[in-house]
Amino acid sequence: MTQPIRIAVLNFAHETVTFLPNDTTYEDFIYPGSPARGEALLSWEPRSYMGGFVKVAREHEGVELVGIESPLWPRTGTGSGWITTEAFETFLGRMIEELGAGGKWDGVYLALHGAMGVRGVPKPEAEIARRVRAVVGRGAFIVGTFDPHGNEDEEFLAAADMAFCVKYFPHYDAHLQGERAARMLIRAIRGDYKPATVTVKVPILTATVLQWTGASPWMDLVQRALTWEAREPDLYVNVFFGFPFADVPDVGLTVEAMSNGKPELARKVADDIAGWAWRRRQALLDTAKVYPMPEGVKLAKEAVARGDWPVVLADHSDRSGSATWILQQVIEQELSDVMIGTIADRAAVETVKAKGLKAGDPFDMEIGGRADESAGQPVRISGTIALVAHAFGRDWVSVAFGRNNLVVLSEYLTQVMYPSDLEGFGAEKFKVFAIKSRVHFRRGFDDSGFAKTILLVEPIEPFLGTVQLDALPYKNVDVKKFYPYGDVSFP
Ligand SMILES: [Zn+2]
Repeated sequence: MTQPIRIAVLNFAHETVTFLPNDTTYEDFIYPGSPARGEALLSWEPRSYMGGFVKVAREHEGVELVGIESPLWPRTGTGSGWITTEAFETFLGRMIEELGAGGKWDGVYLALHGAMGVRGVPKPEAEIARRVRAVVGRGAFIVGTFDPHGNEDEEFLAAADMAFCVKYFPHYDAHLQGERAARMLIRAIRGDYKPATVTVKVPILTATVLQWTGASPWMDLVQRALTWEAREPDLYVNVFFGFPFADVPDVGLTVEAMSNGKPELARKVADDIAGWAWRRRQALLDTAKVYPMPEGVKLAKEAVARGDWPVVLADHSDRSGSATWILQQVIEQELSDVMIGTIADRAAVETVKAKGLKAGDPFDMEIGGRADESAGQPVRISGTIALVAHAFGRDWVSVAFGRNNLVVLSEYLTQVMYPSDLEGFGAEKFKVFAIKSRVHFRRGFDDSGFAKTILLVEPIEPFLGTVQLDALPYKNVDVKKFYPYGDVSFP
């Protein structure tokens, strides 16, 4: 007979752009479906971490999963700033209370992201692990799953036992890492795995647009971790690329290695990966070419004239979703056949809904901008409403203007990843897709073979989402302690 196992499942995840002026509030986490508990939490995102974890946990006999009431992603997505202390303390406080009242736990699964920024809490994921540890004790095992944009240091694994981080960007292996987390947690609980972990910080700070793992050297970095996992049974390697738009003390590249009771092996492998990253530090920065906005839009126009379309114009730097820089340039350079998806402007969407406007009605309004200086000025669009829709729990409006151009208005920052995301807007009628994404769009637009031309663009000034990270107003990070912004030595 196998001993029954009780595992608590908690979710608390955000990628916080702490430089945005709009805090992520308690209310932002409250919407139909969130917070979620029980089976609703366990069946959330079946293709991601949670789905993988639940699938494998339930393949094991005698395992009981308990979904503790947890907030899902805030409705603002990644388009909001510091999480308020109130939101963090309220949700975490309730989780800890429920854990404390829930009897004895053998294990806890923390579905995290890693790039959470909370006012007054320097390292939120480590804090979550410490509070959970305090209530479940040293007799239970704690495992976390992470996004490679997590900013982490040794504090998380000092409180928790294990971590599994996605390797690819785009994040193709979230389900796989969830599966691993379940299998290894159950093995640890049954005494078949004794996690021995090592964490190494590597002082390299990179903008996320450079971290595409579909090409060298980021692909090689992933490959090196995979090779170690292949050659050493029971060894796991996490490489956090880091998220520089969160002003937090544990920002930057992090390597974690985990072995079955062999701390010296974990040390050797973590040092190997960290040393490799450091040796290739220059190459890790010389990846994607990013064009200034006017030049990128000009190149898009030329590509269309040559017949090299579909073209993707990806404004990687827009962190609020409201930026109008591409829209301005499309108008100024008189492009045609462009779909701009999206400009986040909740007020404009609400105005259209309130006035009861529908497809075919004239539209004449200023849209976008305003969110902060990096969003630029609002742009006046005179055209015709093409669509008013409610989908994915959100309202959407599209407006046709100019010579077969379409701008899609959304309530919040929207990262378009697949051409099919735009199908409802008649995507087949356009030659240029101007979207707000850094790397995730490569799933549907690049890896699929869809786009003939891909142009990454950012506004001329080093605004909030820039690749020039030393232009950001950090308070908790000294960029001079990171390559390429200072004279840094490693190890
Ligand atoms: Zn990510």
